[in-house]
Amino acid sequence: MQCERCRKANLIEIKMTVGESELTFRRCGKCELQAWRGEDGEMPLSRVLELAQVRR
Ligand SMILES: [Zn+2]
Repeated sequence: MQCERCRKANLIEIKMTVGESELTFRRCGKCELQAWRGEDGEMPLSRVLELAQVRR
């Protein structure tokens, strides 16, 4: 998979469950771009932290 920023195929993809959502975390080993993706697409870190706080 290719990084959106530096165009290097250097992305690490990790699936995680945060709160009640399954998210994908992507990190580029080259430029250190970090991105979260949920069911609706790209997700800002602030939203991820919000989800992480919702516990039942
Ligand atoms: Zn990159």
